[in-house]
Amino acid sequence: MRRLYLLACAAACSSSARPVTPTGAGRAELVVYNARIPTLDDAKPEVSALAVAHGQIIATGDDAAIRALASPGTVAIDAHGRRVIPGLIDDHAHYIRGGLTWNIEVRWDGVPSLADGLRLVHEQAKRTPPGQWVRVVGGWTPWQFTERRLPTRADLDAASPDRPAYVQYFYSVAIVNTLGLRELGLTKETQTPPGTRLERDASGELTGALIADPHPGLMYQTVARLPSLAPDDQQNSTIQLFRTLARYGLTGEVDAGGGGHEFPKDYAAIEAVAARHGLAARAAINLFAQHPGTELDDFRSWMQIAHAGQKFDDEDVLELHGAGEYLLWATTDFENFRSARPEIKPEAKAALRPVVQEMVRQRWPFAMHATYDETIANVLDVLEDVNRETPFAGLRFSFEHCETISEQSIRRIKALGGGVSIQSKMVVLGDDFVARYGAETAKRSPPLRKLLELGVPFGLGTDATRSSFNPFVTLHWAVTGKTASGRVLYGADNRLSRLEALRAHTVGSAWFAGEDDHRGRLQVGQRADFAMLTADYFSVPEHDISAIESVLTVVQGHVVHAAADYSALGPAPLAPSPSWSAVGHQDPYWQRR
Ligand SMILES: [Zn+2]
Ligand SMILES: [Zn+2]
Repeated sequence: MRRLYLLACAAACSSSARPVTPTGAGRAELVVYNARIPTLDDAKPEVSALAVAHGQIIATGDDAAIRALASPGTVAIDAHGRRVIPGLIDDHAHYIRGGLTWNIEVRWDGVPSLADGLRLVHEQAKRTPPGQWVRVVGGWTPWQFTERRLPTRADLDAASPDRPAYVQYFYSVAIVNTLGLRELGLTKETQTPPGTRLERDASGELTGALIADPHPGLMYQTVARLPSLAPDDQQNSTIQLFRTLARYGLTGEVDAGGGGHEFPKDYAAIEAVAARHGLAARAAINLFAQHPGTELDDFRSWMQIAHAGQKFDDEDVLELHGAGEYLLWATTDFENFRSARPEIKPEAKAALRPVVQEMVRQRWPFAMHATYDETIANVLDVLEDVNRETPFAGLRFSFEHCETISEQSIRRIKALGGGVSIQSKMVVLGDDFVARYGAETAKRSPPLRKLLELGVPFGLGTDATRSSFNPFVTLHWAVTGKTASGRVLYGADNRLSRLEALRAHTVGSAWFAGEDDHRGRLQVGQRADFAMLTADYFSVPEHDISAIESVLTVVQGHVVHAAADYSALGPAPLAPSPSWSAVGHQDPYWQRR
């Protein structure tokens, strides 16, 4: 049934190209004026107004010229001098998977103390019905807490005495309370997958910690065993998450799939939301190989039912981009910096070759998770080898994360026409990284300025929802070089200016969706995706960048988020479901008060 729907939509939706208005002439559907707008358009870098029709920017300029394009039916918005930026684009995140459980997750994003975090768990435990779990699956690091530590099983027993609880720190460690261990059937005798373990105390008892050593398989497995929501609740939850992204100025993501997230069945909620309600942010989907050993077969079967570039809705906001972030499990390293770097085995390179070859033959853009330069160099040997026989000829590919990428690897990627997709994971993991590899190595991990200097395509994002979704945390990190503990990782020679960071997080990230020619800038003919900010990104003290939100977010010419004076322009409020949702009881990102 799902497949039929997908194919029907492929036929109906793939020809939904928007009409292009080549000049500023014509009637505007929406105008914004009295704004400060860095357009990222070199020909007209700073304007005060813009006009929108048919989902596109039809003019930019001064207030008088733009207001002249309005008619009585035009929505005219006075920005009152606020900053308006091109919509931020996350170059690598897992929002489609995250949307399926967003409503029932407790979020610790930005929470200042473990005590506050445990209080939120306690409140959610009281709402949670029997048979359900309390879960924190990412967005935080122990380094952000004044206590500077992970919760223990005893902490979670106290906070959630009557419901099983699961708390995950990135892909490093997860802690389960006593009820949770019982529910999962985990005992001293349990055998765990290779590269993972259950932590034991001095007497051999389980502490409740599930460790990626460094393989995250035990966490993938455990999260997949927690009860899922009913289809209607999954759709509601997806809407709530995408509206949250819009609230923080995000208008698009490159979706990296995820472990335990199967195509096409786990994409039913996002497709239904895109088709029936419209999405508050765009998603360009990469398909993630789920099963070690059968990756090539999986991709071949997906290539039978779907094609790269396929649209799933009339508004052109949901599309299938390509493959990734896992092409082959055996060439994938894992980023638990509390554990040693995994070695890629020589036979894995031989196994990767036919998968890459298939991508090139079928013209599927592909993205590959790679944390360490050693992994990247090995994979590049394979790519260069394939390219000699089956030329890439402009096919886009990227390495994702790349914390320790070397200058030589960047040059090799650039020569093949690839890109480097960067996320702000060092905000969460940087202190663990320093503990293992030292502050000196951390100074160029990842080498932000080197990427800029060498001119390789690169973008910015989060790898949420295991890290925080908040794009202003990413901008803050790129500009200040700070982790969540306040440690400064980078000198001035590896930090970006605010404008450089904005460019990377907009048009830079659009490259990874294959759309840098029509979104990421505010110029005529580009998609009308932008955000009006609560504070001026360019002039607030650096410390306050991470506290910025959007008061008005527009995607494809539609207002998808509106707050303060603009509330009446926004979509109708939607109550979260199920009734015991955590959403609505806390801010998704902790508010400084
Ligand atoms: Zn990854
Ligand atoms: Zn990822």
